[in-house]
Amino acid sequence: MDCIFCRIVDGDLPSRRVYEDEDFLAFHDIRPIAPVHVLIIPKRHVESLLDISATDELMLGKLLVLAPKIAVSVGLDTGFRSLINTGHGGGQEVFHLHLHVFGGDGSYRTPI
Ligand code: 5GP
Ligand code: ZN
Repeated sequence: MDCIFCRIVDGDLPSRRVYEDEDFLAFHDIRPIAPVHVLIIPKRHVESLLDISATDELMLGKLLVLAPKIAVSVGLDTGFRSLINTGHGGGQEVFHLHLHVFGGDGSYRTPI
């Protein structure tokens, strides 16, 4: 399997990490669409929301609980936007589940 985000988790590809624990990693998006734009991923390879099941409920809950903590830690203390693209039909480009967390000027209205 050749997954960019698994390679980032393994340290084979560089990234600007902002958070890491046993199960999750967060790093700056390489092509930010806002002044601050980070991606939060589970370290375990999960392709997308189309591939999750009830056994992933805890992981998904933890992901959402982490999001505001990480957002505040990168300066988005007045709020942020979050987004998950799912599948080709949802505009997903990297097939390793990730939550986009972005913001910084509050001037944009439309998601990606
Ligand atoms: P998707 O469209 O799959 O939801 O978004 C994938 C995101 O991953 C894009 O915003 C893209 O800029 C980002 N991305 C793709 N390759 C890399 C990479 O090698 N490093 C980092 N940090 N971000 C990446
Ligand atoms: Zn992966």
